[in-house]
Amino acid sequence: MVRYVYDFTEGGRDLAGLLGGKGANLAEMTRLGLPVPPGFIVSTEACRAFLATGAEPEGMSQEVSRHLSAIESDAGRRLGQPDDPLLVSVRSGARFSMPGMMETVLDIGLNDDSVMGLAKVSGNDRFAWDSYRRLIQMFGSTVMGVDGALFNRMMTRLKELRGAPDDLHLDAADLAELVEAYKQLIHEETGDYFPQSPAEQLRRAILAVFRSWNGERARLYRRREHIPDDLGTAVTVQRMVYGNLGRDSGSGVAFTRDPATGRPGLYGDYLPNAQGEDVVAGIRNTVPLAELEQLDPRSYRQLRDHMHTLERHYRDLCDIEFTIERGTLWMLQTRVGKRTAEAAFTIAAELADEGLLTPREGLARVSGDGLARLMFPRFDTSTTGDPLAHGIPASPGAAVGAAVFDSAEAVRRAASGETVVLVREETTPDDLPGMVAARAVLTSRGGKTSHAAVVARGMGKVCVCGAEELSVDTAGRRFTTRDGTVVEQGSVISVDGSAGAVYAGAVPLVDSAVMRFLETGERSAGVVGAVAGALQLADEIRTLEVRANADTPKDAARAHRFGAQGIGLCRTEHMFLGERRKLVEEMILARDDAARDRALDTLLPLQRQDFVGILEAMDGLPVTIRLLDPPLHEFLPDRTNLAVRIAATEARGEQPSPRDAELLAAVRRMHEDNPMLGLRGVRLGLVVPGLVAMQVRAIAEAVVERTRAGGSTEAEIMVPLVGDVTELRLVRGEVEQVLADVSDESGVPVHCPVGTMIELPRAALTAGRIAEEAEFFSFGTNDLTQTTWGFSRDDVEAAFFSAYLDKGVFATSPFETIDREGVGRLVGIAVAEGRAARPSLKIGVCGEHGGDPDSVHFFHTAGLDYVSCSPFRVPVARLEAGRATG
Ligand code: ADP
Ligand code: MG
Ligand code: MG
Repeated sequence: MVRYVYDFTEGGRDLAGLLGGKGANLAEMTRLGLPVPPGFIVSTEACRAFLATGAEPEGMSQEVSRHLSAIESDAGRRLGQPDDPLLVSVRSGARFSMPGMMETVLDIGLNDDSVMGLAKVSGNDRFAWDSYRRLIQMFGSTVMGVDGALFNRMMTRLKELRGAPDDLHLDAADLAELVEAYKQLIHEETGDYFPQSPAEQLRRAILAVFRSWNGERARLYRRREHIPDDLGTAVTVQRMVYGNLGRDSGSGVAFTRDPATGRPGLYGDYLPNAQGEDVVAGIRNTVPLAELEQLDPRSYRQLRDHMHTLERHYRDLCDIEFTIERGTLWMLQTRVGKRTAEAAFTIAAELADEGLLTPREGLARVSGDGLARLMFPRFDTSTTGDPLAHGIPASPGAAVGAAVFDSAEAVRRAASGETVVLVREETTPDDLPGMVAARAVLTSRGGKTSHAAVVARGMGKVCVCGAEELSVDTAGRRFTTRDGTVVEQGSVISVDGSAGAVYAGAVPLVDSAVMRFLETGERSAGVVGAVAGALQLADEIRTLEVRANADTPKDAARAHRFGAQGIGLCRTEHMFLGERRKLVEEMILARDDAARDRALDTLLPLQRQDFVGILEAMDGLPVTIRLLDPPLHEFLPDRTNLAVRIAATEARGEQPSPRDAELLAAVRRMHEDNPMLGLRGVRLGLVVPGLVAMQVRAIAEAVVERTRAGGSTEAEIMVPLVGDVTELRLVRGEVEQVLADVSDESGVPVHCPVGTMIELPRAALTAGRIAEEAEFFSFGTNDLTQTTWGFSRDDVEAAFFSAYLDKGVFATSPFETIDREGVGRLVGIAVAEGRAARPSLKIGVCGEHGGDPDSVHFFHTAGLDYVSCSPFRVPVARLEAGRATG
């Protein structure tokens, strides 16, 4: 028989797939002997069965009853028992944490009778009615679908009526009145009544949590975080403990280290006389955890000990939720906490230093994406005036953008290419689309553990929260600073998530500390040391070499500083632009061999100088130079522009210049409907006489020049877009001839390995043949992805990729992360057959995928010799190549 329900005493953290992260970790804490209110978990399997069929899976409700009975007999009272009710929470919890994305209902078991019983046994009327109004509100919105804002509005109105600054100033009678109003609201909105039966409350809440898996914001979050849609959520049912029993009670959230910087020491927020959801919701201002030490020293000490236990046990940063009920501490949740990139590097290094992790385990805890984030520039505030406001530095980085005050506006503006900063009093899960769209999030309330802070950190967005000096007028779409400065929607502001400051206007940017380290090699304490250590280890253990794509001596030099072990792709087309365009035009327009040779002869020394510079910057390291790849008409003026220019001249009654007329004729002649699949790559070399010879001569003469200057060059010549071995054989013959000629003329022997790009499916499928003529392969995964999928990259991304992502055709664009199943399979075939034909074949990849973390792992597994990526991605690729060996 399938089993759907597990007691906390039965599970553990290795069962997160079945029990969800929250449930599995509650079980783990129970087993560690920490004070966790008893409970049980309905598995994700039950959720999947329910979502698939729309009906409760058979036997589930009996299992739930059985487990509930166990809690009841342990507590000595029944769920909703009128004179002394047992209450439970019903909590969502998926395998991967999705903070605030799904639903939780607290205080289940209260009704018109048991609220009286609870008041009596607790001796606290206010508490009982407060709990009841919470239940109705949560149940009403989560289970019965009433807009949560309507409840809040009623509460606000009542507070205004009573002149109450916050909810604590409402007394039992007020709350009883609110309960009635809430019940009526539910009836008006749904035509249905709030259910009085505790069993019905429980059952419906469980099913509502199941359904919340497919709620809109949960889906959006999963797409953003690449969490599969078919996992389902587990449901945790747990005995309630009460933080809202008075001043000696309260709720809080805490981290075992600072999640923004990674610095050791407890970090958190505490709210006296409150239930858990109040802490993150920002309904009242929390106090820093340190103050709990004064309020309740015993609970504070216990909390500190438990957190120490958890950090040692999980060997990682943990975050927790806790509640204190009349001086007794209860642990309600723990998980390995989300953190910024800076904190990830710092914590990994420290835990390794403390001996809790091996260095390799430490390396597994950091990521290339995190490193890329640390390379982003910071603000240069040396010349800026005072900030508009200070807040809590919740998620680091520097962001400049237009202030917007609601999620929809953020989405709208971002869609039209504007960078925006979402400004809110506090964020709720409903703001998620706006947070995704914004570059930064700024709030006037809430701490480092508020919704805004947690979600922004998870997404790597800049965030300053709790900027209390700001008063945010959402309806009026502006905020006002303490000194009365008003910032309207659309005004540009700068948000410094590292320092926790907001500036008017656009503050200039400077290099980050990590970038300075990469540029200069100077180590310093803190995160730079942690990054340096991680890169050093990665370099020691990786088997993949990392090269860079660089077309200029300047890029080559930077790549070299960043640790590139050569150039994997030097594109020559950039050498045909700028002032040289004219010469290229001459070559294209040439009517005879003599004219063409003249044009090529003028280009030759210029190209040679380019190569000399690059070979010098990469002295002693391989430099792979690709022969001209793009269609020639890319070097000619735009057809429409030309036609307009000629027409305008004629309209003035003048003769168009013969050159323009000639150009237009050439452009027309050379027009292709589908240039990506037209006359380009090796095809150019085979039909444009002299082109290959000129380029190869420039390379060979540069090698001679460098050799004479005492350099040691390793130029490699790469032929693009080969689909058949014959193409390569023909070009190679010409290449070898020129190399031999230059060797003879100069007396310096020039050897350049000749290889090809594998960027057409036919090339991959005939790699064994092609390897007969190629000394190396380099996968051009951009073109290989285009030609394998039949996607025109320039067209499809804007046209329908977001629909494809929505519909789950793929989880990430195949142009960002290699499509292992299709394109990856071609790579596998080409590697196997290429090496079989020529065991010494050197194989690499160039193209954007070479710097993409997930793709780097794939290339490692596929057995490539190197990846090549843009200079700025070189450190990322080094790190990931090291991590891939783990
Ligand atoms: P989320 O995943 O959104 O954090 P939770 O299930 O953790 O939702 O619950 C929301 C809040 O309710 C948390 O602060 C949690 O600590 C509190 N809570 C959950 N269960 C209980 C309980 N049994 N007793 C007291 N507070 C609870
Ligand atoms: Mg929680
Ligand atoms: Mg290509």
